[in-house]
Amino acid sequence: MCVGRNYVAHAKEHGAEVPERPLLFLKPPSAVVADGAPIILPADSQQVEHEGEIGVVIGRRARHVSEADALACIAGYAPLNDVTARDIQRSESQWARAKGFDTFCPIGRTCPADGVDWRALEVVCRVNGQERQRGRGSELVFGVPYLIAFISRVMTLEEGDVIATGTPEGVGPLRAGDEVEVELVGLGRVRNPVTDH
Ligand code: MG
Repeated sequence: MCVGRNYVAHAKEHGAEVPERPLLFLKPPSAVVADGAPIILPADSQQVEHEGEIGVVIGRRARHVSEADALACIAGYAPLNDVTARDIQRSESQWARAKGFDTFCPIGRTCPADGVDWRALEVVCRVNGQERQRGRGSELVFGVPYLIAFISRVMTLEEGDVIATGTPEGVGPLRAGDEVEVELVGLGRVRNPVTDH
């Protein structure tokens, strides 16, 4: 489950408003790849971009949970890249195709939530070693407990589900030969080469 426009500065860079409620969309399980696996640029897009994000990994079934109970449903946090075909996203009102290509969801190892304050999490995205994005949990428009409560009113969250909490400003292009890395500072990183189809 993914959240769109959840950092003010990122919404602005696309000329979009921050939504009144969390803007939700889905990525398919077939998009998920691990650290080191290639992100494959599809022939159908000319503009594929990185979106470094804080991933929230669910540890127990959550349905209609309150914000107060939401944190207890979290197993941990993982660095996540919500890879996006921006040209397709702009041309279609539904984002399933733009966000759903195979390999478009690298996720790193889950770090246990114990003792971790989601507000203090810091996500950094680098392309070829150069920093492109940096954001903090405390900057999320809709915070982690609110997101879990909100989503669990719609659908049951299962153990192992992952919530991509939105990307900070600085999204940009990925090209064949690049290496893109998303780091949760102090916790871990997911690093992937980019290859042509
Ligand atoms: Mg995103």
